Amino acid sequence: MTYFLMAEVALLLTLIAAKILFFPRLSVGEKSLLLERWSLNFSYEIVNRLLAFLVGTLILRSISLETASQSAIYFVFYILLLDFIFYWRHRFYHRWLWPIHQAHHSDSGYDFTLSLRIHPVETLVQMGFFVLVSSLMNVSAWQMFFAAHIFTIQALISHLEYKTPNTALLRGLKKIFVLSDTHRFHHDDKNPNCNFGFLFSFWDTIFGTTAKGQHHEST
Ligand SMILES: [Zn+2]
Ligand SMILES: [Zn+2]
Repeated sequence: MTYFLMAEVALLLTLIAAKILFFPRLSVGEKSLLLERWSLNFSYEIVNRLLAFLVGTLILRSISLETASQSAIYFVFYILLLDFIFYWRHRFYHRWLWPIHQAHHSDSGYDFTLSLRIHPVETLVQMGFFVLVSSLMNVSAWQMFFAAHIFTIQALISHLEYKTPNTALLRGLKKIFVLSDTHRFHHDDKNPNCNFGFLFSFWDTIFGTTAKGQHHEST
């Protein structure tokens, strides 16, 4: 798990460093827009991390998770179930709780920091689902944190500003996983109510919410 935490931090630092290196090439207007966006997005991150630490500590003191880990196949099923819930939770936000989820959609730019721009209420709900499912499925604390890192890294990846190369491998991957090209459609005002998937893109295929035009772009 420590390795995954290190991977998560390393990815975040690499993305920040890449942007800082690119910063001098931006115009004055682009620089000020980026600083404005980043200060707000990182403020969300600080609040959410503090909240997650405080509430997470309280929850973990009041519940007891298994110490022995479940099998790898069981873990995959656990991830599938979490992602299925997150898909419907996302649809629910768009349909019924838009004022909360709107914070994530109110950014004028698109880069990895958008994955940090989450309303604190949404963070608490996300944590609640995570702990509830983990507890009901009797996964170990190690597996719960492992899953949390997978979803956090995925959030960074799906909000990358870079277009993925149009290769057969990546086209195939897009049919299974949500990549930034896929999730960008979700943030496009011209494509409302599509591509709600978090980790797996096939929920959108199954429930008919794949963005129109997505397949044209990827073939
Ligand atoms: Zn959304
Ligand atoms: Zn997003």
